[in-house]
Amino acid sequence: MDPHDPPGEPGAPGPRPVSPLEQALHAARALVLADLVAREVAEADVVSMVEESVTHRRWWVEQWPDGAGFLAGLVAQDVQDALLERHGRWPLCPVCGTGDPHALEVEPELGPDPHWVCHKAGVKVAAVGRLGGAVPS
Ligand SMILES: [Zn+2]
Repeated sequence: MDPHDPPGEPGAPGPRPVSPLEQALHAARALVLADLVAREVAEADVVSMVEESVTHRRWWVEQWPDGAGFLAGLVAQDVQDALLERHGRWPLCPVCGTGDPHALEVEPELGPDPHWVCHKAGVKVAAVGRLGGAVPS
């Protein structure tokens, strides 16, 4: 618990009251950043993609507070989409040793306890935020 903020975080806009929603957003950001760091794509512009997603999802979860538990999976998918446009597939599947490189997908797309899964192999690879532990480096 109490994970440290990842390095390279841009300056915060200022103190804000720490609501449960804000805590959920912070946790989601930390989990996705951990996966980005684990897969060595935590460049400055990638971190800004996470921030963009968190900003968007802050609005989203304020409209639907019951979705707070879904934030990590949603932010992961937002960043995955943004990376696909600008960098390519992420995160590449570490399970399948043969065939075309392919990305893992988040399941459930909209639900609690999101995991990275490989649809080709039909396996759960790791929880969102735990990619670093799943892949031998
Ligand atoms: Zn695979």
